[in-house]
Amino acid sequence: MKRALVTGVTGQDGAYLSQLLLGKGYEVFGMLRRSSSGDVIDERLRWLGIAGQVTMVDGNLLDLSSLLRIVQEVRPDEVYNLAAQSFVKSSWNQPLLTGQVTALGAGNMLEAVRLTAPNARFYQASSSEMYGLIQEPIQSEKTPFYPRSPYAVAKLYAHWMTINYRESFGLHASSGILFNHESPLRGIEFVTRKVTDAVARIKLGLASELKLGNIDAKRDWGHARDYVHAMWLMLQQDKPDDYVVATGRTTSVRDMCRIAFDHVGLNYEEFVKVDAAYLRPAEVDILLGDSTKARTTLGWDPATSLEDLIREMVDADLARHRKRAR
Ligand code: NDP
Ligand code: GDP
Repeated sequence: MKRALVTGVTGQDGAYLSQLLLGKGYEVFGMLRRSSSGDVIDERLRWLGIAGQVTMVDGNLLDLSSLLRIVQEVRPDEVYNLAAQSFVKSSWNQPLLTGQVTALGAGNMLEAVRLTAPNARFYQASSSEMYGLIQEPIQSEKTPFYPRSPYAVAKLYAHWMTINYRESFGLHASSGILFNHESPLRGIEFVTRKVTDAVARIKLGLASELKLGNIDAKRDWGHARDYVHAMWLMLQQDKPDDYVVATGRTTSVRDMCRIAFDHVGLNYEEFVKVDAAYLRPAEVDILLGDSTKARTTLGWDPATSLEDLIREMVDADLARHRKRAR
């Protein structure tokens, strides 16, 4: 039985990845940072019905000693480093913490693997945000980076450290440059989930408007369930490498709102208000990924359309709010 260690196990991707690995017969260990909300922290794992099947280990990306201990104890075959301060907007409010967790935290994890399990395969959660002020209209592994937020700067450090540890120490370390991916388990502060949650509340008479920032921003949105499959495929290759994971279709926040409101028979224009509070000091206007390499080398294919993704999210938020109302 293969053993996988997943950091960020309580997040969106950690939950879907754990589900995938358990389905493939892995023993899954999730790193849990100490929290005062221990009774609800595994909500996403519970949503997928797998909470009891993941073995939790106590640690924090900021504490190298905890990572060394965990890697020694777990003896993983595969390590997926998904933990991060992952919200771009917060990275301007907490720029140094974002650097410590998202950048140096990945360095800590690489060190723990190099020192205690150098034969383990390592996955780093890199991000399309690294392209930022895009240097090419369609971004591939060869496109130069131009980060536009403290989050993206931190991810760039982690990305290059992963490549450096591969080249310096021969680690089987791969980096997935994943474009935005969403699901009913997406954090509520991200724009898709903020929209689908608001659509559900408006439909049920619990809210009357939705305040957003730059609704002309465009993203290449896919489903998290499809994207964690690409992570796993990367670690099954003989050679470690870097891969863009994207759908190849970009859509504005405005059109994503249209899809979400249409699903419940409402017109988004009547409810969406632009509020400057949600604008960012520097914006990533548009992202569009070229995942040819992942498709040809890994045989990966995104199965879910944006319309199906958004409808699934709206339906899940409707169900959540109906349940709360009962
Ligand atoms: P989430 O924000 O849902 O999850 C982040 C996870 O990191 C949580 O489990 C959180 O724990 C954990 N974490 C935060 N700080 C620490 C710390 N100091 N020590 C240990 N764990 C910590 O992110 P996603 O699941 O959406 O994304 C997974 C990864 O992929 C992230 O690195 C993200 O930046 C990256 N990424 C995501 C994309 C997306 O569109 N979703 C696109 C490209 C990259 P807790 O529950 O305790 O807060
Ligand atoms: P990001 O790509 O990781 O920053 O993912 P987000 O979902 O947070 O944001 C995607 C895009 O939506 C960005 O260009 C935001 O500026 C834009 N956006 C517009 N209004 C909002 C909002 O109210 N909240 C968030 N999170 N993003 C918004």
